[in-house]
Amino acid sequence: MATHSTRMLIIGSGPAGLTAAIYGARAGLQPIVVQGLQPGGQLTITTDVENYPGFREAIQGPWLVQEMQAQAEHVGTRMMWDTIVDIDLSGPPFRAIGDSGDVYEGDTLVICTGAQAKWLGAKGEQELSGKGVSACATCDGFFYRGKKVVVIGGGNTAVEEALYLTNHSDDVTLIHRRDSLRSEKILQERLFAHPNIKVLWNKAVEEFVGDTAIGGAGLTGVALVDTVTGEKSIEPAQGAFVAIGHAPATELFKGKLELDESGYIVVQPGTPKTAIPGVFAAGDVMDHTYRQAVTAAGTGCMAALDAERFVAAWDHAKRG
Ligand code: FAD
Ligand code: NAP
Repeated sequence: MATHSTRMLIIGSGPAGLTAAIYGARAGLQPIVVQGLQPGGQLTITTDVENYPGFREAIQGPWLVQEMQAQAEHVGTRMMWDTIVDIDLSGPPFRAIGDSGDVYEGDTLVICTGAQAKWLGAKGEQELSGKGVSACATCDGFFYRGKKVVVIGGGNTAVEEALYLTNHSDDVTLIHRRDSLRSEKILQERLFAHPNIKVLWNKAVEEFVGDTAIGGAGLTGVALVDTVTGEKSIEPAQGAFVAIGHAPATELFKGKLELDESGYIVVQPGTPKTAIPGVFAAGDVMDHTYRQAVTAAGTGCMAALDAERFVAAWDHAKRG
C-alpha cells in the first residue's frame, strides 16, 4: 500500500477536477487527481456538446474531457485509477483512502465528485438514453427542435425543463405521478399559463418505447399508467426528459462537511470554500442550480486559485 503526497489532492476527474488540476499544476502544486469509477465524469456518457465555448461545431463529450485530461497531464498532473472510500478532514494534510488501499495526502483538498441524475428505472430508459431519453434539457433540448417532447417530474427542475424546452418545441407535456406539483408557485404559474405546455396528472411511466437500433427512430413514445385508475395509455414523444432530481456524490462527506437538505456540499457564497480551511468543493457536487460543464470548469478554476492562496499563506506562516 503506497502513500501519495501532494500539495493539492483532487477527488473526481470531470470538468471541475480536471480544470482544478490544470490550474493547480501550472501553479506548481503538482496535483493528484483520483479519478473514481467514472473517469472523465458525466460528459463521458453523452455525445454532442454544443454549448462548451470555443467550438463552432458540435464536439463529443468524451473527446472534450479526454482533451482536458491530456492538458492536465501535460502540465504535470498525476492521474490515479482509484476511488476514494474514506476521508479524514482533520488536516492539513487531508488524508483520503483509496479502494486500492493506497493513501492520498493533500495539503489542500478539492472535492469534485459531481452529481448523477436520478433515473426512473423504467423499461427502455437506459437503452434509449441518448436516443430520445435524456436527463438534461439545457444540454439536449436543442436536438428536439420542432419535435414533441415530454418531461417527467413535478419539482422545480421538471417545471424549469418544461419551460426551457418551449424554446425549441411547441409541443411540451409535463407528466407527473400526482395531481399537484411540488415546484415553487411562481414556476407553476408560468407553466400553467404557457400555451405550448400541457400537464398529464397522476401518470407514471411504465416504459420508454422506441427503436434502439443504430440509425433507428429512437424514442417514439412513453407507456403510462394512471396512478389512480390504473388505466394504461401511450403518449407519443420523440424526446423524454427525466427530471426527478439529482443525487450529489457526497456520501463520503456526511458528518464531516456541511451538506444542504439535498446533500450538496455547502460552500461560502460565491466561493468554492467549505467551512474547513484548505478544503474546497467545485462543480456539480456544490451546485444544484447550473450543472453545466463550463460552470463546473469555472468553479474548478476558482478552487485551484483559492488552494494556491491557501498553500502560499501556510508556507508563509511556517517560515515565521
Ligand atoms: P462529474 O462530471 O459528475 O464528475 C464527477 C467525477 O467524480 C467523476 O470522475 C467520478 O468518477 C468522480 N468521483 C465520484 N465519486 C468519487 C470517489 N469517491 N472517488 C474518486 N472519484 C470520485 N453540460 C454541458 O455543459 N453541456 C452539455 O451538453 C452537457 N450534456 C450532458 C449530457 C448528459 C447525458 C449528462 C449526464 C450531463 C451533461 N452535462 C452537460 C452536464 C455536465 O456533464 C456536468 O455539469 C459536468 O460533468 C459536471 O462536472 P463535475 O466535474 O462537477 O462532475
Ligand atoms: P425534487 O424537488 O426532489 O422533485 C423531484 C420530483 O420528481 C417530484 O415531483 C417527485 O414527485 C418526482 N419524482 C421523484 N421520484 C420519482 C419517480 N420515481 N417517479 C416519478 N416521479 C418521481 O427535485 P428537483 O426538482 O430536481 O429539485 C431538487 C432541489 O433543487 C430542490 O430543492 C429544488 O427546489 C432545487 N431546485 C431549485 C431550482 C430553482 O430555484 N430555480 C431549480 C431546480 C431545482 P413527488 O412530488 O410525487 O414526490
